[in-house]
Amino acid sequence: MTIYNGKSIQKGIAIGDIFCINKKNSVIKAELVKDSQAEKERLNQALEVAQKQLSDLYQDAVSVVGKEKAAVFEIHRMLLEDPGFTDGINQWLAKGFKAEYAVYQAKEQLLITFGNLEDDYIREREADIADVSQRLISVLIGTKEMPHEFKEPVILVAEDLLPGEFIKLNKSKILALVTAKGSVTSHTAVLAKAMNIPAIVDAGSLQFAEIHGESGIVDGFTGEFLVDADSRTLAEKLEKQSSWQNSQQELLELIGLKNVTADGRTIEILANVGSVEEAEEALLQDAGGIGLYRSEFFYLSCSRYPTEEELFENYKALIRKLGDKKVIIRTLDIGSDKKADYFQMEAEENPALGNRAIRMCLHRPDLFKTQLRAIFRASAEGNVGVMFPLITTLEEVVQIKSLMEEVKTELQAENIRMGNPQTGIMIETPAAALISDELAEEVDFFSIGTNDLAQYTLAADRQNPQLGNLHDSCHPAVMKLIQMTVHNAHEKGITVGLCGELAADTLFTETWLNMGIDELSVAPSHILSVRKAVLEIK
Ligand code: PEP
Ligand code: MG
Repeated sequence: MTIYNGKSIQKGIAIGDIFCINKKNSVIKAELVKDSQAEKERLNQALEVAQKQLSDLYQDAVSVVGKEKAAVFEIHRMLLEDPGFTDGINQWLAKGFKAEYAVYQAKEQLLITFGNLEDDYIREREADIADVSQRLISVLIGTKEMPHEFKEPVILVAEDLLPGEFIKLNKSKILALVTAKGSVTSHTAVLAKAMNIPAIVDAGSLQFAEIHGESGIVDGFTGEFLVDADSRTLAEKLEKQSSWQNSQQELLELIGLKNVTADGRTIEILANVGSVEEAEEALLQDAGGIGLYRSEFFYLSCSRYPTEEELFENYKALIRKLGDKKVIIRTLDIGSDKKADYFQMEAEENPALGNRAIRMCLHRPDLFKTQLRAIFRASAEGNVGVMFPLITTLEEVVQIKSLMEEVKTELQAENIRMGNPQTGIMIETPAAALISDELAEEVDFFSIGTNDLAQYTLAADRQNPQLGNLHDSCHPAVMKLIQMTVHNAHEKGITVGLCGELAADTLFTETWLNMGIDELSVAPSHILSVRKAVLEIK
């Protein structure tokens, strides 16, 4: 038996076969083939498929971000026809190598040549060459880097997973998640929590090749990942699993009860979700509404920019599911660890401090307005709030409001039905908390995102597992900023919620009530445990 110790992000016990995704192994090997002519045909077919993908991406992107920004897909498509690129591939094919390897080598050589040039424009093309080669290789391999489907339920083990990778997996067959890296407030951890599967991050150096296919146990209480456990340990864990399942069953008895303390204080408990399916689960757990719809996960599940109509249908389905309960749609919070290739984001030295969330949306008003139009239209269907992430300045809020006005005027002029959503912002930077008195004048509600607020206040990258003690702690500085925000919100007569991972930590439930927080928004699997904590407060 081998035991790895990591940090637990979701309680529970899972027992099953281990499936390792080792992205490090996805190196293209130098393989020779017998029939170079057949390989050439394979390459030609792959070129056709990749070109078709890129022209589709171009068409879709034009309608969302305009011709200028969409042009990158056209450039990529043209690169696939450029003899400067294809001649290099053919030379490697002629040496008898497999097409994947020929593309890989042609790319490497071009990058070396480009690297020696001074011209800025050509340097910019390096990223395009790398991108387009990867697309061609993916088409040739015929698979993505990792499987989207698993035949049998598995314990999924990986070095690390980006939210964009995780979202594309078929999660019905994932019993538990273990990553060698990662941190408790990373977005992948947030997604695992939403799935309510036992999950461990920062499990150290996992021996992928040795453990793949072995039987494993994930203990989401202790943070242990056990491989090939002996029969005594297995029996212990099975018992623990069954008593956990019983306690979860008991929580269901709290469905229908109010979130009220013994001395009569109440607090709303809403759900954080990333999809309509998760909202269904939230309703089963008796959520008072959706306090945070992470709308970027829909974008991450797409391979091109979603259209206004697709976004509208997504929001409408969510809002209708909730009936008259509140739904807060947070606008696109992409960037940093949440990336989709088609956004073509520039590489940044410090992405968490970079062009993410509202900053990116304000830099790309066409993209932002498409989302706002869809939200305004869908908000006619129910009780909706629209919320903006990562605010740092008053000017951002002024700019957002002016774009919202533009969108409303356009929709009115087009005679398109729309609602009148409440407007809120996330308080997740120290700057926003410190000027929350001014910001409160501009909006209807605040929602405090403690994951980012802790990251930015404590200067501790939420992706970095070595700083784990800072991520989940309730540092006095973070507490002071929360208290200040609540005070300023209430002074100006607006409501304030808490939607970071700390909202679900029942050690602090009484603290939030004492501070006067109006609502807590937590992963669906935590709603009833937080309700239990509220009911137990004297
Ligand atoms: C937060 O930062 O606390 C938050 C809720 O937003 P996200 O985790 O999606 O960044
Ligand atoms: Mg955040």
